[in-house]
Amino acid sequence: MSAVEHGFKAEVQQLLDLMIHSVYSDREVFLRELVSNAADALDKARFLALTRSDLAPAANDPQGVRITPIGALRQITIEDDGIGMTMQEVIDNLGTIARSGTKEFVNQLKQAGQAGAPKMIGQFGVGFYSAFIVAEEVEVITRSALPGEKGVRWKSTGNGNFTVEEADKEHRGTRIILKLRDEAKEYADPIMLKEIVKKHSNYMPWPIFVEAEQANAAKALWAEQPSKVTDEEANGFYRNLTGDWREPALRIHTTVDSPIQWSALLFVPENRPYDLFNPRAERGPRLYARRVLIAEHANELLPDWLRFVQGVVDSEDIPLNVSREMVQKTAVVRKLKDAITKRVLKDLGKFADAPVDPEKSAAKTWASVWSEFGVLLKEGYSTSHEHRELLLPLLRFHTRNHGDEVVSLATYKKEMPEGQDTIWYIAAESKDAALLSPHLEAFKKRGWDVLICHEPVDEWLMNSLETFEETPVKSATRGELPADPAEEADKAKLDGLVPWLETMFAGAVKQVRASGRLTDSAAVLVDDDTGISSNMERILRAANQPMPGGKRILELNPGHPLIKNLVALHDAGKNADVEPIARLLLDDAQLLEGAIKDPAGVGKRLQDLLVRASASALRETPAT
Ligand code: ADP
Repeated sequence: MSAVEHGFKAEVQQLLDLMIHSVYSDREVFLRELVSNAADALDKARFLALTRSDLAPAANDPQGVRITPIGALRQITIEDDGIGMTMQEVIDNLGTIARSGTKEFVNQLKQAGQAGAPKMIGQFGVGFYSAFIVAEEVEVITRSALPGEKGVRWKSTGNGNFTVEEADKEHRGTRIILKLRDEAKEYADPIMLKEIVKKHSNYMPWPIFVEAEQANAAKALWAEQPSKVTDEEANGFYRNLTGDWREPALRIHTTVDSPIQWSALLFVPENRPYDLFNPRAERGPRLYARRVLIAEHANELLPDWLRFVQGVVDSEDIPLNVSREMVQKTAVVRKLKDAITKRVLKDLGKFADAPVDPEKSAAKTWASVWSEFGVLLKEGYSTSHEHRELLLPLLRFHTRNHGDEVVSLATYKKEMPEGQDTIWYIAAESKDAALLSPHLEAFKKRGWDVLICHEPVDEWLMNSLETFEETPVKSATRGELPADPAEEADKAKLDGLVPWLETMFAGAVKQVRASGRLTDSAAVLVDDDTGISSNMERILRAANQPMPGGKRILELNPGHPLIKNLVALHDAGKNADVEPIARLLLDDAQLLEGAIKDPAGVGKRLQDLLVRASASALRETPAT
């Protein structure tokens, strides 16, 4: 069969152009990417061998990744005896199907500048193409481990096309031959290659040989005693595993012997991975059973809301000779999930409680981790009853008094002044909208702090958070707030106006009443003690949920000059004057909620009122 030519998928070609035409400082990461693909392929073959005895044999060389430079030819070969690829897999994986990260990677490079490419490439699952950073031609000769499959040769210069054809290959696995560009020829040097392996791939769990000499530590670091593992080792392992070039914000390393045996080396990244909110992204730590990789992403080991935790779990109690699907269903896995989840939450708790170490970067503080992943922990609190106790001390909030800082409920409670017996929060579209809300006026006056909730998930969180250490948690926009005793007399003055307004506004609001929560504003709309809040209504409306449009309570500020005037006008029987003003007052309160239902009507009413106001001004100061 002669070679067949294929075109790269457009996004892949875009990526290749970036690889080929840019000058990078740390070009050496190509090796890390190809080595980690080779190690993955070895893991997959070992797993397959558990259930199949008919796999194609590996070469007699020691199992691992073999790197061979030939300086005279400006060439490097990277070889493994792993799972290999069939012809269709070669075509799909190396060119015609774009990985989900491809587009994202290209976009990020456009924003961040191309110099960042080698650092970032590992995170986006497009590592193979980094070969073109150093190579003018890449040849892949591979043979699938499945019985009966033939060898395949893939070849490309990275410009538009690649070719595939059948090829002779005695053993299973993949050999990648890089023909180096002239300006990258220094990489065909064994000493340099050993250094690069040590630097970037030291903690791959497979041995990596450069010219038959093992160049990395190849330890299963997670199985070591946690106290013996250095930061440097753990961080190197993290980088190899995730492709993230930063250090992790937190590491969780543990070995447990009973009731089930497991060890785990887990990490919380400093930043959100690009696909954190992509529902199709694969989640979960790597699962090993006695060092054999069972699953690259064992999403059944942690709840979905802990999907930002990365790393490795190994358990001797996972049955080896059952399928991946069966593994998911075993009781051991359920118990593991429970144990791992608790351990992670406890360690997060310790981290959140620890005093901030000024020596460490700001990214390694709980406040920073919270700003990246807090939204998921809030989801966890709202959806998972069994873990609430451990999640509660992790919660952080912005508040009216604390500026950019976030505080725990315990801190809020400790700071409550005499006379405050409730933890108050306000839910709004944004922090600024919350801070400007007239609902907070009385809290300001009393010196009570208010938690600010401005993410959609907060509605669910606060609904599941009825009390904190026996102190009730309540919405500042809900129910009646008792007025200062001094103001009670003022409130009584509205007794005549209120029922008249209620009749006029029947259908638009549920009730009109004198307010205990306003100092500066004339009126505000308040949520009922029960039922759906206006913020929740806004969120549901934004999600295209049909909304019945719950009716609110209109509260009036008895001390405000406008309300005083309305009372006087009403008591003097001048209701024709009260009506247009009162209607605009309601419009204004709706405007503050961001829920104007009838903008044209508001405009008309406003203009009518302005005509009257200007006419009355004219009566006082006639035009000449
Ligand atoms: P990723 O490894 O993150 O999936 P890559 O672009 O590095 O992305 O590789 C694309 C795919 O090509 C891999 O997922 C794998 O299926 C296949 N592949 C790459 N290298 C090898 C190899 N040495 N052996 C077998 N398959 C490989």
